[in-house]
Amino acid sequence: MTRKIVDARVIVTSPGRNYVTLKLTTDDGLIGWGDATVNGRELAVASYLRDHLAPFLIGRDAERIEDTWQYLYRGAYWRRGPVTMAAIGAVDLALWDIKGKAADMPVYQLLGGAARDRVLTYTHATGWDLPELLESVNKRRDEGFRAVRVQFGVPGLDKVYGVTRGSASYEPAGRGVGPVEEQWDTAAYLRHAPDMLAAVREAVGPELHLLHDVHHRLNPTEAARLGKALEAVNLFWLEDVMPAENQQLLRTVRAHTTVPLAIGEVFNTVWDCQQLITERLIDYIRTAIVHAGGISHVRKIFALAEIFQVMGAPHGPSDVSPINLSASLHLGLATTNFAIQEFMGYPEQVSEVFRPSYTYDDGYLHPGDAPGLGVEVDEAAAERFPYERAYLPVARNLDGSVKDW
Ligand SMILES: [Mg+2]
Repeated sequence: MTRKIVDARVIVTSPGRNYVTLKLTTDDGLIGWGDATVNGRELAVASYLRDHLAPFLIGRDAERIEDTWQYLYRGAYWRRGPVTMAAIGAVDLALWDIKGKAADMPVYQLLGGAARDRVLTYTHATGWDLPELLESVNKRRDEGFRAVRVQFGVPGLDKVYGVTRGSASYEPAGRGVGPVEEQWDTAAYLRHAPDMLAAVREAVGPELHLLHDVHHRLNPTEAARLGKALEAVNLFWLEDVMPAENQQLLRTVRAHTTVPLAIGEVFNTVWDCQQLITERLIDYIRTAIVHAGGISHVRKIFALAEIFQVMGAPHGPSDVSPINLSASLHLGLATTNFAIQEFMGYPEQVSEVFRPSYTYDDGYLHPGDAPGLGVEVDEAAAERFPYERAYLPVARNLDGSVKDW
């Protein structure tokens, strides 16, 4: 049986923020949707798909998902990296969507069926100071969330990653000619963070899962110190405590603290995270489905992780589309060692373009039982929101030198 791809189209739209979407159409009229969004470098992936992959995707057999993955990865010679892997990921998601629709089954059924009833999710709470942060945490708890990532301001700085000020949108992608610049002060952060997190734990009691993201800002010694200082807070995890490239240096952190570590949202293949997993230098692997080559590849990462008691916990902010979130939920429902899915919600206009069938209830998500990935795209609505150049910020230390974002 073959099912030919007859059209491959790339849609770039900006309903509140930029999303790149791949649409594959087959000769029997099935449509598969894939997310291809890389925040701040969107058009590079759009071009990779439109200019380099689409011409030879047309005519290929849509049923051969694994073969297509291998062809795009091994056949390219220039491997890995977020642009290449997001493009491959988008094709992979669209093909899984098509296979599900052809079989009249949700994708999680094609992956072996549900290994759990629902997928635990965490959301974000943010406040510049403690009262503001507690208000945000309590609001999230009232919405039913059982796990909350808490981010807060640092004395002496006027902006910090992941923290809203006033009514400004959270973790904004700054629109314009270049990235907004922010300051960073590691010493001030390390003086402040343990007290803030202890105060939040004290206020919310023992049950709510608390997570915290360090956003690659520390070196191994600083990371070990922070981990030790946070032992009593009983965090669900401490995220991206160091730059992700320095995998062997996580041994230093592990030697000094039992705080659970989560890393990997900027990784794109199993080869990028194999040392972290096989040496068990982390507890949670954060690879996002689209940024690591789609369902076909991320399930291999999770399979390796399963052997080493590392749990899958994919990146899932609002800068990847509901198609990616849905793919994550299908894989999460069908994967035993899947811990939790990040879910921070979307700008309001996103629901005009993307129509997902996943549902949220009482702190959990479910991908739904619609055939395929269960997200449809309104192309006319997408056209109403044209692309606007936007970037994540860049951070500098107090002396003006560039700091890891
Ligand atoms: Mg993160």
